[in-house]
Amino acid sequence: MSRVLVIGCGGVANVAIRKCCMVPEVFSELCIASRTKSKCDELAAELAPTTTTKLTTAQVDADSVEELCALINSYKPDLVMNIALPYQDLTVMEACLACGVNYMDTANYEPEDTDDPEWKAAYEKRCKEKGFSALFDYSYQWAYRERFEQAGLTALLGCGFDPGVSQAYCAYAKKHEFDEIDTIDILDCNGGDHGYPFATNFNPEVNLREVSAPGSYWEDGHWVEIPAMSIKREYDFDQVGHKDMYLLHHEEIESLAENIPEVKRIRFFMTFGQSYLTHMKCLENVGMLSTTPVTFEGHEIVPIKFLKALLPDPASLGPRTHGKTNIGCIFTGRKDGKEKTYYIYNTCDHQACYREVKSQAVSYTTGVPAMCGAMMMLTGKWIKPGVHTVEEFDPDPFLDALDQHGLPRTENHDPVLVP
Ligand code: NDP
Repeated sequence: MSRVLVIGCGGVANVAIRKCCMVPEVFSELCIASRTKSKCDELAAELAPTTTTKLTTAQVDADSVEELCALINSYKPDLVMNIALPYQDLTVMEACLACGVNYMDTANYEPEDTDDPEWKAAYEKRCKEKGFSALFDYSYQWAYRERFEQAGLTALLGCGFDPGVSQAYCAYAKKHEFDEIDTIDILDCNGGDHGYPFATNFNPEVNLREVSAPGSYWEDGHWVEIPAMSIKREYDFDQVGHKDMYLLHHEEIESLAENIPEVKRIRFFMTFGQSYLTHMKCLENVGMLSTTPVTFEGHEIVPIKFLKALLPDPASLGPRTHGKTNIGCIFTGRKDGKEKTYYIYNTCDHQACYREVKSQAVSYTTGVPAMCGAMMMLTGKWIKPGVHTVEEFDPDPFLDALDQHGLPRTENHDPVLVP
């Protein structure tokens, strides 16, 4: 029996909410709250006849701690699932602290306004100190560690697929397969085709910012930064085939380096087709990825927000996307004094996801772990006061839940390694 407040009703939240409603014995009451209430009402009306989960809806501006507190105090949830945008992470965490409720999200904080001088100064200092320059990092949310601990509250960060399941795979490898891990390669392959010349599979602003930033990886205790898309490898993915993939900076590298301190190298690769990269480079070159407002015919517009309005809504890609995703981690290291390698991954079919929850696999592979992570918290398995990432918890019940709820693992003890 639990009461859960979900913030956001976009692509990922839609999947998470639909999956929560399939487990009413855990998610007995659920409030869907977002900026645009009509989307919440529509989803609740569709799901109500299919579930015994008691659904309600609300309008909330998650940029306002005051509005969030009013909603939390009136609904009194056991857990807030923040599945809005990374821009809202800090306000939702503040509200959870003020109201005494546990918190989780699917991506770590990044600021919406990267021109804000106060933020810029902190960002530039961090780039210099740490050695990587992605807009997002854990420092903003890790700064809440003591306050959550003192309040006796748990905050679970980044419980999607990557970050999220990728870290559970690392915790699983550490617990069952290795005494010592030397290297981790996280491989994110989307072999899906939506038939558009250019579209992003999740929020375009967040996606394009991530992909156009410099890449970086962790090696021998420090960050190595490289120009965007300058390290390319080819890999033959199970059930997808040969794909080009590129080294990106990714948030979980930061927490994994802290939580698996013996690891010598951690890299993250994502697959992209040449057409996607050409479009992105062109948009970047003409300034369309900028977050700095420009004045156009008397109106102030933010180029990347305007671009978002022109691109296909990621939620509309579901019916037209065919093919599979394959996301997982390859490890090297030692067990009982012997060198070994290990690969654990999930493959997910876009059309099968659409038939089940009316969404493509990218939202599915994020929304299902969000539901399973919430389940771990609500059943007390993943409750530990403070601010934590997925690899800090027991991976076994979480991976069992993923196996059961649509994202089963595959293991390979003799994988091809990435050079
Ligand atoms: P969408 O843009 O589809 O949805 C975002 C939702 O948040 C919308 O319902 C939007 O409302 C709502 N929202 C935005 N701003 C506010 C606000 N101020 N107050 C209230 N609600 C607001 O995004 P996605 O579903 O694709 O992504 C959701 C999250 O999942 C993001 O943080 C993303 O980074 C993360 N993600 C994580 C992945 C992982 O593997 N870990 C992979 C993919 C995504 P409105 O309808 O009004 O626009």
